[in-house]
Amino acid sequence: MKRDIRLAVLLLSIISLTVTAATVWELWSARERTLAEANIHNLNLTQALDTYVEGIVTQSSMLLLGLAERLEHDGNTPPQLDRMRQLVLRQQRLLNQLDDIVIYDAQGNWLMSSTGTVPAGANGADRTFFIHHRNDPSLDAYIGEPIRSRTSGNWVITVSRRYNHLDGSFAGVISATLGVENFLQLFGKIDIGKYGAIGVALNDGQVLVRYPFREGDMGRVLSRSPIFTRYLGEAPVGTASFSSSLDGMERIYAFRRNERYPLVTSVALGKDEALAAWRAEALRALSIAFGLLIVIIVIGSLLILAIKRRIGTEQLLVSAREDLLKANSQLEVLASRDPLTGLENRRRFDDNLAAELRRAQREGAPLALLLIDIDYFKRFNDTYGHPAGDECLRQIGQLLAESVRRPGDLAARYGGEELAVILPNTDLAGALAVAEQFMERLEDSNLPHVGSPFDRVTASIGAAALPAGKAGTSAALIEAADRALYRAKAAGRNRLESSTSLQGTHP
Ligand code: GH3
Ligand code: MG
Ligand code: MG
Repeated sequence: MKRDIRLAVLLLSIISLTVTAATVWELWSARERTLAEANIHNLNLTQALDTYVEGIVTQSSMLLLGLAERLEHDGNTPPQLDRMRQLVLRQQRLLNQLDDIVIYDAQGNWLMSSTGTVPAGANGADRTFFIHHRNDPSLDAYIGEPIRSRTSGNWVITVSRRYNHLDGSFAGVISATLGVENFLQLFGKIDIGKYGAIGVALNDGQVLVRYPFREGDMGRVLSRSPIFTRYLGEAPVGTASFSSSLDGMERIYAFRRNERYPLVTSVALGKDEALAAWRAEALRALSIAFGLLIVIIVIGSLLILAIKRRIGTEQLLVSAREDLLKANSQLEVLASRDPLTGLENRRRFDDNLAAELRRAQREGAPLALLLIDIDYFKRFNDTYGHPAGDECLRQIGQLLAESVRRPGDLAARYGGEELAVILPNTDLAGALAVAEQFMERLEDSNLPHVGSPFDRVTASIGAAALPAGKAGTSAALIEAADRALYRAKAAGRNRLESSTSLQGTHP
């Protein structure tokens, strides 16, 4: 029973744990899936942006290449420069990120600006890109750091190129300036959430464009960002997740290094924001699982309660059955006992004699019977009163019970003041020994009886025995004992007589 409860508790625990584990596992993998999807989305976005930026740089450098060709062959005289300006103006309409094209001479002096006006005394010799081209004979395009345009005051990126004299010596620089604002306009149309960011930087981490635009980011170098210190070193394309050193916010990043130019494009999303939809879904799943757990616990408690109730009922039934059995055996005792003497009653005597006789015949064993009658008992009653007679009977009954101790022996009240003893497996000699022992006890107890010639209570006994292996009936055995008793009475009472009628070979 206790085992049933333990099993129920075990089962409930297993079910609850399974529900909890399955929910946690499902939530965790859904979270991982959500992040993986966001990463793929970000990677795709870097691909598109990378292609876009690369296209602009390529177009700019093609434009610069054409101009350098003309400068190197046709020279940089004012009419030449004016013709070039007309050409640029026509091309500029096709490339709307292009703010300006400026041609510098070897000393950094402005020779031409496609916007038309050349500020008086304008010189670019201090610009990083100019110094780079003057020192580096390479004719490749160079992408410079963001600077503030000297004509518009806006933030611009420069794509520049060196042009040479015919002898190969440094003749000057042509630069295309691209407005940062033009990039921001495109990036602003892309949904990256409240905490997202899109950035284009040089290989060394120098920020070229960042959306959302923050004045302070311009000119910053992100060389300390894990993307540049760690991830780009491992792969040119990838994703990462870390907390920003600027605002402490955790973001997921996708980055991509351009294959032709020293450019890195990156897209970042706020991690919490990327997981917002997942979080709402998780909350729903959690509340369903929680509800399920409560239902399981309630049903389980009811189940355990039912088992406990059943145990209680069964215990009640068991004890009721025990009570009933006890009452039954008490009833049986009551039905078979004589209430006054405590000896077996006449009914039990009859049943037992019949049973013992059958057994004696079956087993070929002897069976003996004593019939005892108290002497002058009528006078005892007359002298001492009926209640005293009852008490005397009770005492004699006790004496008899003490004389008959072998299991199987049965002492009974045969009727009135007559008692009887059935002695299984006992021959006549054995029966006489029991009878004498009883008479001795009676004598020893010396119960006074003034009405008797013996001055004490005495009894007369008739003994009979059915010898081993001899056929006989209860009636014959009783009759033989009764005859012996009669002889004892007739011979003066307070004596023992035995019947020989059943002995010998003939019945
Ligand atoms: P005897 O020596 O010949 O046996 O004389 P007796 O007086 O005993 O004669 P009998 O056996 O015929 O008498 C039985 C008497 O025993 C009758 C009755 O007064 C008394 N008696 C029988 N049963 C009870 C009993 O349950 N209680 C009492 N107090 N007396 C009983
Ligand atoms: Mg009698
Ligand atoms: Mg008598």
